[in-house]
Amino acid sequence: MKIIIIFLLTIFCSCNKEKAKETPKEIPKEAPYFQQIKSNDVKLGEPVYGDWLFSHKEKGQTFEQYFRSKHIIPTKDSNVIYIRPIGSFNALQKKQIELLNEYLSIFFQLETKTLESVSNNIVPASARRIGNEGNEQLLAGYLLDSVLKKEKPLNRIALMGLSELDLFPQPSWNYVFGLASYQNKVGVSSIYRFQDNKLTSENFNLCLSRILKTSSHEIGHMFGLHHCTTADCVMNGTNSLSETDKSSIRLCAVCQRKLNSCIQYDNKKRLTALEKYFERNNLTDGLDLMKKDIVVIQ
Ligand SMILES: [Zn+2]
Ligand SMILES: [Zn+2]
Repeated sequence: MKIIIIFLLTIFCSCNKEKAKETPKEIPKEAPYFQQIKSNDVKLGEPVYGDWLFSHKEKGQTFEQYFRSKHIIPTKDSNVIYIRPIGSFNALQKKQIELLNEYLSIFFQLETKTLESVSNNIVPASARRIGNEGNEQLLAGYLLDSVLKKEKPLNRIALMGLSELDLFPQPSWNYVFGLASYQNKVGVSSIYRFQDNKLTSENFNLCLSRILKTSSHEIGHMFGLHHCTTADCVMNGTNSLSETDKSSIRLCAVCQRKLNSCIQYDNKKRLTALEKYFERNNLTDGLDLMKKDIVVIQ
């Protein structure tokens, strides 16, 4: 996603001889589920001008690299994903937050909770401006550092702020979709630009799928998944809203294997729940993809 990424590489330097002797964890065998659904992965085409991969020469991340990397793993004290709405939301927007909450709980197979919304007034005048399109914008870094990083809701594993207003990362930028600190497991995204000026019953599903894609992508980063460069996947980097719209809502087989090695859920149960969710909410692209996966795992 077009996002300023505070990606703090943890340089692992151990001088502890005891630790150095530890045998590395063995790479788990690939379960049949992942081999089966791999047949539905669609290889990424050559990037063209404007695509994320055209301007970002990323190498991707294999399952082995992910497995050996340092990333969070849910524990009994750290296993809840939180959403914190920021601003005032109308009934349709509230419905989308409710649907996002449900989706994330299915996608990650973890408990997900939506906190009470906080007023935009928590942002001081020094961290606001009127953007060059005439709309009010909030400084994303202020929300991240002075609001979200300070919150410690019970058993939090990840916290996603969702702003009603547009965001900007620094004075020279026009806007930003979101900002995240993966090390702190917090991020903030704005729904402002997803709505094409106004959320209506006509653009509700398009806007919903944008929120589902970007939120699962950002939280995926918090669980240590890098951008996917092999197949159509919700972990593909995207440069623009139109690229996000074209990108898949599905995690490819390799990324599903990564997430499953971290969260250890029942893959079939997750897939069936996603299918039902897409069906209930008339999200046909997602539904078609889940149906194809269900066919190959029979
Ligand atoms: Zn990303
Ligand atoms: Zn992937």
